[in-house]
Amino acid sequence: MGPHFLAEGLEIQEHSAAGRGVFATRRIAAGSLLSVWGGWIITTAELNRLRKTEQTYAVQVEEDLYLLTPRSKVAGADFINHSCDPNAGLEGSISLVALRDIEAGEEVCYDYAMADSNPHLGFDCTCGSPLCRRTVTGEDWRSLRLQQTYEGHFSPYLQRRVTAERERIAREAVALQAQAQAVVAQVGTPQGGAMASNEDIAPIHRMRPRVRKSVKLVAVQR
Ligand SMILES: [Zn+2]
Repeated sequence: MGPHFLAEGLEIQEHSAAGRGVFATRRIAAGSLLSVWGGWIITTAELNRLRKTEQTYAVQVEEDLYLLTPRSKVAGADFINHSCDPNAGLEGSISLVALRDIEAGEEVCYDYAMADSNPHLGFDCTCGSPLCRRTVTGEDWRSLRLQQTYEGHFSPYLQRRVTAERERIAREAVALQAQAQAVVAQVGTPQGGAMASNEDIAPIHRMRPRVRKSVKLVAVQR
């Protein structure tokens, strides 16, 4: 029993860069549950009122909520560090699972962009990965590469944002296509045929209007 769950085969070890980290003492299979965080739920405003040193062991779990371990109670899963090329990812807002097989001796890391979107919580990263972003910020979840790589392993509140963003882009694409078709319908006459060569226009002009529109749209998209 304790404030956190840390799976068997994981232990805290000294870490030259980050002080302490969580390491595997044996091979752990992809998909395994690694840890579950516990702590106190605080709002963003409450977090911002804490001293920097007290903010260290907080993880964002909802749009305006953080799970905090007070510094005096720090243990186990609190020491899981960030990597820009992590072997662990979120499943839900407080559990970490192995994204791939983790070998004995490897450090367990997740990408803080999976959970945190607070613009004030940036830091310089020295994870050493070729994918290292150097500076990790609360805006990193917006990266399309990260959205694709971490699909299903973001905190649920961030996954909702990613999905909403995708839907917005899809709606805009549909609206743009409708606009383009409207433009094509307006200029889809021989006078407006500047987009296509004269060779193209002659046969197109003999087609029925509906076909003519779609053929013209191809010309616009080029
Ligand atoms: Zn990094």
